Amino acid sequence: MVSQRVVATFHLPREWLGALPDLADFVEWGSGEPAPRDWLLKEVGEADGLLCTVTDRVDEEILRAARRLRVISTYSVGYDHIDVGAARARGIRVGYTPDVLTDATADLAFALMLAVSRRVVEGDRLIRSGGWRIPWSATFMLGSEVHGRTIGIIGMGRIGRAIARRAAGFDMKILYNSRTPKPDVAAEYAPLDALLPRSDFVVLAVDLNPSTYHMVDYGFLRRMKRSAYLVNVSRGKVIVERDLIRALEEGIIAGAALDVFEDEPIGADHPLARMNNVVLTPHIGSATVETRRRMAEVAVENLLRGLR
Ligand code: NAP
Repeated sequence: MVSQRVVATFHLPREWLGALPDLADFVEWGSGEPAPRDWLLKEVGEADGLLCTVTDRVDEEILRAARRLRVISTYSVGYDHIDVGAARARGIRVGYTPDVLTDATADLAFALMLAVSRRVVEGDRLIRSGGWRIPWSATFMLGSEVHGRTIGIIGMGRIGRAIARRAAGFDMKILYNSRTPKPDVAAEYAPLDALLPRSDFVVLAVDLNPSTYHMVDYGFLRRMKRSAYLVNVSRGKVIVERDLIRALEEGIIAGAALDVFEDEPIGADHPLARMNNVVLTPHIGSATVETRRRMAEVAVENLLRGLR
């Protein structure tokens, strides 16, 4: 198989790649930055396999340049960055990494819920800036509770279900919305109009598709409780960010905790980064050693199967 060329748009530790570098003519974009478009357009020209990730837009132009490509393996469960229809029309297989990152992402959703409602990051910032002066007060840094509250999960897929399992452990009332009801899930299906006014935490776990693009706009946020928090571990483009900023400024909702953004990365000058009732993480839903290693195993296996 060594005559086959595999192009990787990002670096993975050598020991996570298994036999791939020995089995194929393996080329990778080694810098930590996303692979430049020009580099990808050039390298994909002779590639039989492409190992890519969420920062690569694999569209018609890339596929046109990819004269020999037989398989695209993305190191992610989301595949909204790939024109799957155009790949299919060319007979190119597409692989992704579902399941192995589900629990890590659900863990982060809970970390965000707890952090924003119990003011964990705000408290940490307060201490580091020398602002903790009175040792204890009955009304100091009061947050709101997670256990026993109502969670509204939008997107009851793999990650949504894993969030629901955790919510059950916190004795939460679980509402959910997805395109189709899931009779096997121990939770109450609710249309958005019923879910939003009842939920203390609205957690987004949908995939990005035409029906979820900009799903969360000002009108959506207006239907939430003023005391509620919005948590997003799905994709940034599910939210109209300027509407969220406006809603937070106006006190339409209590706060937000976000792992993903409309345009990544965001900087310290971003309006969300200046809000105390917002917790931000840099797209790290699946970022644990164990999960990233398992994702590599699946992505490499998908690639090798596609080549075979
Ligand atoms: P999944 O199993 O495909 O679940 C997606 C869910 O979204 C499905 O239940 C689907 O409903 C629902 N959905 C789609 N469109 C909807 C709509 N218009 N209204 C309501 N629900 C809708 O995917 P997953 O494995 O759970 O992953 C979900 C997404 O999380 C991924 O696509 C990815 O973008 C994101 N993600 C982010 C990170 C991170 O680092 N933050 C990590 C992993 C994944 P039906 O079942 O009824 O079709």
